Amino acid sequence: MNNIKKTNGQNFEMLEMHKVKIIKKINLLNIDERLTAITNAGNNTFLLHNKDIFLNMLTDSGVNAMSDAQQAASMIADDAYAGSESFFKLEKTCQEIFGKKFLVPAHQGRACENIICKTLVKANTFALTNHHFTTTKAHVELNGGKMIELLANEGFKPESTNPFKGNVDLKKLQDFISKNKKNISFMRIEAGTNLIGGQPVSLENMIKTCELCKKNNIITILDASLLTDNLYFIKIRENKYKNMNISEITKIISKQFDIIYFSARKLGSARGGCILLDDKKILATMQDLVTLYEGFITYGGMSISELEMINIGLQEAMTMEMISHGPMSIKFLVDQLTKNGVPMITPAGGLGCHLNAMKFCDHIPKEQYRAGSLAAAIYLISGIAGMERGTISEERNPDGTDHIANMELVRLACPRRIFTKSQLEFVIDRITWLYKNRKLIGGLKFKFEPKLLRFFLGKLEPTSKWQEKLVKKFKDDFKGSL
Ligand SMILES: *Cc1c(COP(=O)(O)O)cnc(C)c1O
Repeated sequence: MNNIKKTNGQNFEMLEMHKVKIIKKINLLNIDERLTAITNAGNNTFLLHNKDIFLNMLTDSGVNAMSDAQQAASMIADDAYAGSESFFKLEKTCQEIFGKKFLVPAHQGRACENIICKTLVKANTFALTNHHFTTTKAHVELNGGKMIELLANEGFKPESTNPFKGNVDLKKLQDFISKNKKNISFMRIEAGTNLIGGQPVSLENMIKTCELCKKNNIITILDASLLTDNLYFIKIRENKYKNMNISEITKIISKQFDIIYFSARKLGSARGGCILLDDKKILATMQDLVTLYEGFITYGGMSISELEMINIGLQEAMTMEMISHGPMSIKFLVDQLTKNGVPMITPAGGLGCHLNAMKFCDHIPKEQYRAGSLAAAIYLISGIAGMERGTISEERNPDGTDHIANMELVRLACPRRIFTKSQLEFVIDRITWLYKNRKLIGGLKFKFEPKLLRFFLGKLEPTSKWQEKLVKKFKDDFKGSL
């Protein structure tokens, strides 16, 4: 919570409304061991072993802390292949929170996208969105469609004071609909826009976007994977809703959309995926696909314990105590790092803090992957694993050249209720040191490049001996410290 005051009258930057109950030991290797680990991982933080990572800030997916109530619920799972009571309990909770009649379960967010895209995307149609997510775009394209991004230009500005950089540009939307009305499969709004820095969408923008789509008979979809962060920002940044509670805001959001889906690895703080909808015809198609790809329609590839944990996780997500910890940790990181001169995406969003690698590493040619190089350098000097969200995360152009991303970001995710403030202080210290020594960071090139979603499994190598030089400077400056 951030409305609790210190003696001096200022609010605490963050104050945890939970205590540590179960702990997991983590290791900080020395820098020589870290050099070996990142080399073996092909300079790709996705390929590091978790035992070699000190602070795992790769993602918030499937790694949020669970509550005691969630753990307890997992023990009362009603195990059954078909007709599990745990499923109907979760469906009822979803009805209460989101007001949608039906729940289609799937094993994670991308599995929901597979089912949605197989149901709704026809060849040569357009799927509209504020901004794409990697797996969403891949599923649209696998079904012969094309993703069209209609983000307001402000969203691409790394440094900004705009409170809602995830907003749809309504004029771009209107123009696109006027020209292509017959060829649109759906309009998808991604809450807490992942790839541009966890930036929220205003409720006003959601309402206007959906109104326009409804007028034109276009199906509207909410990707609610990062909804908790977006809800927090609507509550504290959108004046009109500041006196409503989180459940009330959630109900208004849900009412706008025909279909809601989410990765329960994020929303719900467990592991799984859910699609919510009212339309019986679409439901029937989706249920056929679920039985084919996921499992029976009352578990969809999830363990029954997981259904119980999502059920509690969703209810807990309707409280400010739960949803404020992530955004407050992120704001603490962004404020302190900005103060130290490090180029950050501003304003602070959800999901994690985002370093602007375009600027941080402006001495590295764009073709040598600024964000990828920075992510590898961060691990090397600190044991912190972040995620590249830049050119490596894009697919190549049809002619084989790199599609240079608009933004080169390294994301340091803050999974919900995981890190303490002293761990965040370590992050600030090491990143600030690296920024002062940034000219020692060099580029990367692929030595193994998968055709699809290459950022997951690709292996890269440094274009020069820069990593050895960085290790030497670290040892000189830190004198035997890890
Ligand atoms: C993580 C994520 C997904 C995919 O979910 P998975 O459970 O990882 O498959 C989809 N959309 C958004 C916005 C996400 O952040």
